Amino acid sequence: MPKYIVLLGPPGAGKGTQAQKISSSFGYPHVSSGELFREHLKNQTQLGKLAQGYIERGELVPDDVTIAMIRERLTRPDCEQGAILDGFPRTAPQAEALSAMLAELGGKVDLVPYINVPTRVLVERLAGRWTCREQGHIFHETSNPPRQPGKCDVDGSELYQREDDQAETVLKRIQVYLSQTTPLIEHYRSQGVLVEVNGALPIDQVTQTLSELIEKEVLV
Ligand code: ADP
Ligand code: ADP
Repeated sequence: MPKYIVLLGPPGAGKGTQAQKISSSFGYPHVSSGELFREHLKNQTQLGKLAQGYIERGELVPDDVTIAMIRERLTRPDCEQGAILDGFPRTAPQAEALSAMLAELGGKVDLVPYINVPTRVLVERLAGRWTCREQGHIFHETSNPPRQPGKCDVDGSELYQREDDQAETVLKRIQVYLSQTTPLIEHYRSQGVLVEVNGALPIDQVTQTLSELIEKEVLV
């Protein structure tokens, strides 16, 4: 049976950072809706052009196109054993669609670590975030600096600061998260799969907690 882990938490909580680490240690692919959108943007596909305005404004891309994009990703062969979802679902209809999709694939949402971080920390984290152009590897200028400034440790590509990480857009994204995504916390809590994780701790400690959770709750 495939296994699916959904990382929940506000923008800047560390979902991408943790997904990259647990993906490489447990072998489940990292499925990031934001990263998929950014690839479409880079390639100027029809979907990329549609998503661009929403992303620049810090709004959510409409559910139907987002759901279709994730469906396509989860049905690729590398997701046969499951996946780590980062940034999806973000709305109640997306969560419903995900359950239906996973049922078709013979699985379900097995674990939802909710990475909780105080709002004031989020702005600092996003202001100092540097993202790799090639594959989206994530760094921070003080808490997780690259060995060489401006260059990705993993693939050597250029690091850049996302347009939507500017303070004004960040505040909008946090508002959107509070209104549209936080209801999913209760949704998954009521299904018994939610576990709250303190995302204010250092990166390696959060990874340790998540790894233990996955071993206990998913690999059984
Ligand atoms: P999200 O995917 O939830 O938006 P990221 O993983 O991109 O969050 O992390 C946001 C920023 O915070 C990045 O610059 C990252 O290096 C940094 N970061 C992530 N986790 C931590 C942590 N536990 N402590 C300090 N900084 C962190
Ligand atoms: P963060 O690092 O803040 O969690 P992401 O990289 O996940 O940000 O998302 C960047 C942008 O991509 C969002 O602000 C939104 O415009 C769009 N996006 C990503 N995931 C979704 C989703 N599940 N539903 C709608 N829009 C999304």
